[in-house]
Amino acid sequence: MLMKDTANPAEKNTAVGRFAPTPSGRMHLGNVFTALMAYASAHSKGGRCLLRIEDLDRERCPADGVKWLLDDLDYFGLRFDGETLYQSERDEYYARELNKLAEMGLIYPCYCSRAELHASLAPHGSAPVYDGRCRALPPDKRPASPAALRVIVPDYTVSFVDGIAGPYSQNLASECGDFIVRRSDGKFAYQLAVVVDDAASGVSEVVRGWDLLPSSPRQIYLYCTLGYRPPRYFHLPLLVDADGRRLSKRDGDGNIAALRARFPRPEPIIGALACAAGLIPRPEPLSADDLVTVYDPARLPKAEIRFSPALLR
Ligand code: GLU
Repeated sequence: MLMKDTANPAEKNTAVGRFAPTPSGRMHLGNVFTALMAYASAHSKGGRCLLRIEDLDRERCPADGVKWLLDDLDYFGLRFDGETLYQSERDEYYARELNKLAEMGLIYPCYCSRAELHASLAPHGSAPVYDGRCRALPPDKRPASPAALRVIVPDYTVSFVDGIAGPYSQNLASECGDFIVRRSDGKFAYQLAVVVDDAASGVSEVVRGWDLLPSSPRQIYLYCTLGYRPPRYFHLPLLVDADGRRLSKRDGDGNIAALRARFPRPEPIIGALACAAGLIPRPEPLSADDLVTVYDPARLPKAEIRFSPALLR
């Protein structure tokens, strides 16, 4: 299964991007960077950028998480197009697409506990590969406990060209294994929800953090299996400090509440991020709309951006 990186001339003025945050806490510089780049990418093509709140796991989202998020996006001057989607309201759409997979014979219940999986699976990189042990479980051997639902993957290598990372391939069977589309607590999994929502919203480009690059082959597989056209992908380098630690993993300079207290206007922060990313030579103040004019994915480094707090003046 090979996806070509066809830059589509018809994309001009019709590009649809999106920012899809999980409101699990206050924003940090890492997800501000993602929001700005997703917005700039779609607008640099004369397109639109949508906002989707990924609140599938509501217990992990503080009561004020969405309020903080919308307020921070507003502070940065990011005005999203169309209606804001909330994943917590979209179970019926996920159920419908899951049903399609089930009708194709691609879904089975899995009773493995998290502890069992961790104890016995061969680690592959950082993510364990599921060995499919519940796939052949006959119905009379199924325990009464609640099951997760997995989708069967073929022995395919999905290959695509990421707009920043370049060519990327993953064999679904040996590097990923059958994956969960509905958890044992009944919640739909990120991998399914993201595909269903992006397809339903007509998203043509996905601009998001590098950490999600290994998820893309699973998502491309779901798109193709469900009969949708996958978007183009652009996986952004992650912001790290001088010691190579992700800025999202610590407080201090990455914390938006602290930055907003220091900077009544967002332009110095946007300019510092654009400079760290190599989009402008010096950290000059930039608005979100100025960023659109300097945005060029070809200038972004791969994998990581070292962010120095000295850029924030
Ligand atoms: N909700 C995910 C996050 O906040 C992003 C998902 C995506 O962009 O596909 O990390």
